[in-house]
Amino acid sequence: MDIQWYPGHMTKTKRMLLTQMGLIDVVIELLDARIPLSSRNPDIDTIAKDKKRVLLLNKADLASENITARWEEHFRQMGFFTLPVNAKDNKKTGGTAKLAALLKEIMRPKVESQKKRGRINAPIRAMIVGIPNVGKSTFINQLAGRAGTITADKPGVTRGRQWIKVGSDFDLLDTPGVLWPKFDDQQVGIRLACTGAISDNVLDKITLATHLLTLLTDIDPAIIEKRYRVTTASLAGAASATDESGTSNEVNVPGEINTPSEAALQLLTDIGNARGFKMKGGVIDLERTAIILIDEFRGGKLGRISLEWPE
Ligand code: GDP
Repeated sequence: MDIQWYPGHMTKTKRMLLTQMGLIDVVIELLDARIPLSSRNPDIDTIAKDKKRVLLLNKADLASENITARWEEHFRQMGFFTLPVNAKDNKKTGGTAKLAALLKEIMRPKVESQKKRGRINAPIRAMIVGIPNVGKSTFINQLAGRAGTITADKPGVTRGRQWIKVGSDFDLLDTPGVLWPKFDDQQVGIRLACTGAISDNVLDKITLATHLLTLLTDIDPAIIEKRYRVTTASLAGAASATDESGTSNEVNVPGEINTPSEAALQLLTDIGNARGFKMKGGVIDLERTAIILIDEFRGGKLGRISLEWPE
């Protein structure tokens, strides 16, 4: 069964973004470093064509450093400017300062040509776009807090729209462009649900937790084994059985998205047992176990884990 992940406001958003593009020099797209593909909406390629493009791999603190470096390389080869950032700990990691320097570099040719024509100090205008929960507000607050002041409405700009002045060089539109992720396949939906990009009401926690266990065990069984002191052999075994049967090249493809695999459910039960999450009669509280597992993954307690990597 296919799941309806999102209501359909996409057309409206797209139209709104298109009208704003006329004001913008650079489009800064925020992605989740753990799932840079699933957290991208490819519509932005059409909406922002002809614009300078920066891909920020946010939440880099939660992603594998090595895999993030590979994504940077990957996106550079595609012609994007890119930087890993951590909007939540910007002071330490200096993401906004790096971005400001990068924007200056990107826009140098335009600024110089403007100077030649006698237009000095026309600031670079940028806008941040991204899917819900990717960290847009957090990042904008950091940019505003670092050096920004909210500037008054500019003539010719729709009432109510404001620009945040970042240093002397660039102005940022204070409201981000919200894009919806694109669900090419259900796996994309699962990854978005695992990272918390989409509502927890779409998939029940237990089912989501079993998908997360399957993904993590596929990446490295030690992630689960070390933290919860359980063995993942049954789940790993189920995966290789699928492989040997020749039905799938991909390891750990869950069957129906709404039907947790037996092996993953067993592993979830083992984790609940190891944590002592028992209800009356000794039954393992799977709901509680699922919530803990998902929260610990999202909070980085299982380590820095990327769920997608470039081919
Ligand atoms: P928005 O919907 O895109 O505006 O996302 P928010 O700015 O509201 O951020 C969503 C959640 O992600 C919040 O709980 C933030 O604290 C968290 N968050 C944002 N950026 C980062 C980051 O770089 N690292 C981590 N660990 N969490 C972040």
